[in-house]
Amino acid sequence: MQVDIEVAGRTVLVIGSETGARRVTARYRAAGALVQWHEHAGECPAAALADAALVVLVGAPQDPDSDPELQALRTRCRGAGTPLAREAAARATGSATLLGGGPGALGLLTLDAATALREADVVLYDRLAPTDALAELAPTAELVDVGKLPGHHRVPQAAINDLLVQHALAGRHVVRLKGGDPFVFGRGSEELAACLAAKVPCRVVPGVSSAIAVPAAAGIPVTHRGVSHLFTVMSGHAPLTEEEHRHLAGLGGTIVVLMGVSTLPQLVAGLGRGGLRPDMPVAVIERGYSASQRTTSGTLATIVTAAGAARCQSPAVLVIGDVVRVGLDLHGGVAELARLTESLAS
Ligand code: SAH
Repeated sequence: MQVDIEVAGRTVLVIGSETGARRVTARYRAAGALVQWHEHAGECPAAALADAALVVLVGAPQDPDSDPELQALRTRCRGAGTPLAREAAARATGSATLLGGGPGALGLLTLDAATALREADVVLYDRLAPTDALAELAPTAELVDVGKLPGHHRVPQAAINDLLVQHALAGRHVVRLKGGDPFVFGRGSEELAACLAAKVPCRVVPGVSSAIAVPAAAGIPVTHRGVSHLFTVMSGHAPLTEEEHRHLAGLGGTIVVLMGVSTLPQLVAGLGRGGLRPDMPVAVIERGYSASQRTTSGTLATIVTAAGAARCQSPAVLVIGDVVRVGLDLHGGVAELARLTESLAS
């Protein structure tokens, strides 16, 4: 609707549902108007009506002649000498937010993440996301666990992409909450591609990745001046090739492995063949930031036995490199490491 009225500095009364009126309100505000919004016409005080430059009714019924509320408003506007305009309600546009939730501690959720959760209509989450306080963080959202289906099957990625897109196209603000950072082994880029293909507005909120935060929780820095000036983050989901083992061993920096508990024996053997020292320190940090967080340490030569004896399980972050010794040293654990190494070697 085109209305040729100067509204800058003047009051415009917008009447209609909150979502329907949102865009109209924004447009008049941008034009400099002082917008007052009411959900129902009957709520407008007579003085405000008389004072306004314009009254805008958003989402008026198909057949205005049969709507008593609209009729009454027309009469009141005519009486007050204020023009009445009608506009179609804006179709609510939904959005998708790919949200990094950090490694599980509430304090490691970013301010942007907390804001997105507070405004969410739907949250799709899974096991590694910080789920404990989700109901309080996202009080108005429907919470959907896409981590597993009955019978312990995971919801396939294509189905998660579909859910994300469908909720957003239905006008909802949908948050895909992930553990750590969405772009670190989080399939965030596949979800982003699905949203972009469906023309769904999508944004990514990075999170604190377990690759750095979980070693830190165990006191291990991933770099240390004079000890390691690079770190490689790898997925242990599938074993590396012989060439990759060789290159990785030759890099001389810290190796951080996610999803690596079940392939630890292959990785250790491969890095050994690639030339990594048998006494290179290794740590396995399970369930970082939970009450049952645990660190099992050893060396390249002993860690498989140590992790087996301790029954290490996923989720865990593995750290291979001299920084493990730095961390343990800082925390007075070097004696412990020596003792463990000795007892396993003997
Ligand atoms: N996007 C995530 C990683 C997803 S892959 C991130 O940036 O952190 C899942 C793997 O992350 C797990 O198998 C485990 O290796 C690691 N992980 C995530 N959270 C963890 C935690 N709290 N403690 C230990 N490992 C964790």
